[in-house]
Amino acid sequence: ILVEKINYSLLKYSETESQFLSFERCQAFTKIQPEKGYKNLERVRKALQGGKEKREISLRKIEPDEGKIDMEGLFIKYRKDLDYVLKNITISIPARAKVGIIGRTGAGKSTLFNSLCGAFDEYEGNIRIDGKEYRELGLENVRSNLTLISQSPILFEDNILYNIDPSQSHTLEEVRGVLRKVDLLEKIEEVGAIDEVVVGNDISFSQGEKQLLSFARAVLNRKKLVLMDEATSSIDSETELLLQR
Ligand code: ATP
Ligand code: MG
Repeated sequence: ILVEKINYSLLKYSETESQFLSFERCQAFTKIQPEKGYKNLERVRKALQGGKEKREISLRKIEPDEGKIDMEGLFIKYRKDLDYVLKNITISIPARAKVGIIGRTGAGKSTLFNSLCGAFDEYEGNIRIDGKEYRELGLENVRSNLTLISQSPILFEDNILYNIDPSQSHTLEEVRGVLRKVDLLEKIEEVGAIDEVVVGNDISFSQGEKQLLSFARAVLNRKKLVLMDEATSSIDSETELLLQR
C-alpha cells in the first residue's frame, strides 16, 4: 500500500508542476513587449477586439499608394553579436514593376523580404516606400499594404475564412472564389464550410498547399506590394503553371 501511495503522490506532484508551468508561461506572455514601430497601438488593439474601430481602420486610406521601394546603404544583422547578413544594399524598384531577386542559398533573399515586413527593429541605412522613410510609416501601415507569400508559410489555428481574410472585409462568396482558383475549395468543402473547418484540427495542409492558401490570400487582397519568397518552392510544376496563369 505504501508503494502505491508513493507512486500516486509522485504522479500528482508532477501533474501539479506541469500545470504551474502553463500558468507561468501565460504570465510570461502578458509581459512581451509590443513591437517597436506601431504608431497606433491602441487602435490596433481595439481593432483586434472588434467593434466600431475595426471598420474605421479598414476604411482608412493607407499608404503606400504606389509601392515604389528604395533601399540605400542597407546593413542588416539578426543579432548584435552576429555578422552582417546584408551589406550595403542599394536598390531602387519603381512602382508596379516586377522584379526578381536571384542569389545562392543563404545569400540573404529571405532577409531582404523580412526587412520589408518590418522584422528588424534596428538596421543601418534607409528603406523608403513611396519616398517615405520606413520607420515613419508605421508598421501597421506597411504590413497592411503588403502580401508576403513565404518560403515556409504558417497558418493560424483558426477557421479557413480567418486564415484567408483576417480583416473580414470580403464576402464568403469572394473567399470561396479565390479558393476555387487555387484548386483547394473541393478539398476543404469535403470536410465542411470554410468558416467552420479549423486548420490543424479538422484539416491539415502540406507545405505546398499552405503556399496555395497564401496565394489565395494574395489574390483576394490585391495589395500594392506582393512579395513572393520562392513562392512555388513546394509546388509541383503543373500547379505552378496554374498559378502563373
Ligand atoms: P535560401 O535560398 O536558402 O532561402 P536566402 O537567400 O533566403 O536562402 P536567408 O534566409 O536570407 O537566405 O539567410 C541569409 C543568412 O542569414 C544565412 O546565411 C543565415 O546565416 C542568416 N540567418 C537567416 N535567418 C537567421 C536568423 N533567424 N538568425 C540568425 N541568422 C539568420
Ligand atoms: Mg530564403
